[in-house]
Amino acid sequence: MTALLEVEDLKVAYGKIEAVKGISFTVEAGQIVTLIGTNGAGKTTTLRTLSGLLKPNSGRILFDGQPLSGVPAHKIVALGLAHSPEGRHIFPRLTIAENLQLGAFLRTDKAGIEKDIQRAYDLFPILGERRKQAAGTLSGGEQQMLAMGRALMSQPKLLMLDEPSMGLSPIMMQKIMSTITELKASGTTILLVEQNAQAALSLADQGHVMEVGNIVLSGTGQDLLHDESVRKAYLGED
Ligand code: ATP
Repeated sequence: MTALLEVEDLKVAYGKIEAVKGISFTVEAGQIVTLIGTNGAGKTTTLRTLSGLLKPNSGRILFDGQPLSGVPAHKIVALGLAHSPEGRHIFPRLTIAENLQLGAFLRTDKAGIEKDIQRAYDLFPILGERRKQAAGTLSGGEQQMLAMGRALMSQPKLLMLDEPSMGLSPIMMQKIMSTITELKASGTTILLVEQNAQAALSLADQGHVMEVGNIVLSGTGQDLLHDESVRKAYLGED
């Protein structure tokens, strides 16, 4: 099986601060892969580098067989890699429908775009009910749903989600997690960054634990969920 995404010895620094210190991992098509780890481990930096927002110092990224080195962010979206960023980054003054349309900025197939907007409303009915409302009036969890819906509008092969459960109530979090499982079932490959290790590992095929810029442990979601060191460090057990 060839991987959809291959990351090899990736290093990323902010000036002298090395945030990612040479990580390697792959994402196979059809899988959910999660990166977990505490604040500052380098997870967000990794996603921002994959989507072309940060330039790596060294290393290799292959997406769908193509090197991403030097490819600008909008072309990376066009290749099929979408990013739902941390902190949501929706456009608060635009309506929900307009935010979704912006996610399709590279597409010209009007009927297909309409169909996918409808799909976002089916996934998250609240977005459909409020479609004409300014997105800034949505709750944090609803904005998170909109960010995911918007990322899906580019019909990505790989959807990267940065902390989709951040600040959500347990019920909202359940909803987001079950949506991630539904997306996988419908054929979307997912790279999920989460601080909620329990939730992320429960649904991931593969997981990697990051600590201060390195991957320190890798395994299937289930293996990591039952790993003693993971349970102590990330699942709050002693
Ligand atoms: P979090 O869950 O808190 O977002 P993270 O694992 O996503 O953590 P990163 O945001 O990737 O971690 O940060 C990795 C390291 O890089 C941290 O030490 C952070 O302080 C540093 N860093 C992140 N962004 C910048 C920046 N713009 N300038 C300088 N240092 C940065």
